This record gives sequence, C-alpha cells and structure tokens, in this order.
Amino acid sequence: MTGHLVMSTVHATDAISALLRLTELGVNRAVLASALIGIVGQGLVRLNCPACAEPDFPRPIYLQHLSIQESRQSQLRQSRGCSHCNSSGSRGRVGLYELMEVNSRLRNSIRTGSEFEIREAADKAGLVSMTRQAVDLALAGELSVREAYRTCYFGGE
Ligand SMILES: [Zn+2]
Repeated sequence: MTGHLVMSTVHATDAISALLRLTELGVNRAVLASALIGIVGQGLVRLNCPACAEPDFPRPIYLQHLSIQESRQSQLRQSRGCSHCNSSGSRGRVGLYELMEVNSRLRNSIRTGSEFEIREAADKAGLVSMTRQAVDLALAGELSVREAYRTCYFGGE
C-alpha cells in the first residue's frame, strides 16, 4: 500500500511543533511515522531599516533565550523608524523557511520518542531551524532581537 499524508496548514511555531500538534489532534504516531515525508515551516520577519539602524540593547533574558552570548551584543541592531522607512523601522519583510525531511532515525523518534528526541533527530538530519536563521540575521544586524524572538521556538507555545 502506498499513501501520502497531505497537510495543508497547521498553525504552530515550527515544523516539529506542527508535527506534535498533529499528534495532539489525534493523528496516530505510527501512521505519521510511516506516511510523513517532510514538513516545511515558514515565518515572516521584518528586516531592520539600514538608514535608522542603531545599537540594540535587549534585555539579557532575550539573549539567553536565543543563546546569544553577551559578548556579541555589539553586533545587534534595531531601527526606530525614520523618513526612509515611513517610520516603520523596517525596510521590508523576508520569509524564513525550514525543511524537516523525515529519514529513518527521525521516523523512529516520531513513532516513540519524546519531543526532545524528535528535535535531536531532526537536528542530526540537517534541519536548520528558523530560530537558527533568525539568530544569524540578528547577529548580522539585519534583524532586531525582539523580531528574532517573536519568530522563535522556545519549548511550549
Ligand atoms: Zn528607517
């Protein structure tokens, strides 16, 4: 028998949260593990306006959540708004995407593993999370820490 599980949209913070949401909704884990090919997660973030970008001094708790070392604080930027960006503080939005391809190890964790085990297996399978991408953009000064934080997954919703 061949079958494909087609999923249009599940509201969740990231691909793995979407997977877990399906199990909460009553989709059998064994069925998910055998039928699932992959999950794409996507999110939109507002990039800093370069004309009014200035040093960003987020509260330390944000840095902790995003695993940004305090020594890298000087790389962070935020934009307050100016005539170039119509006071929006942003030069526009960009999409972030993550692709979780289901390999055999991941299949096993989906069948029986904890959320932690599933995340670990996905990481080993090469999932570059939206959180990682947002943090990289923040460290490049392209994204405020507040905006990165808004996009990210921290365990629980
Ligand atoms: Zn501006």
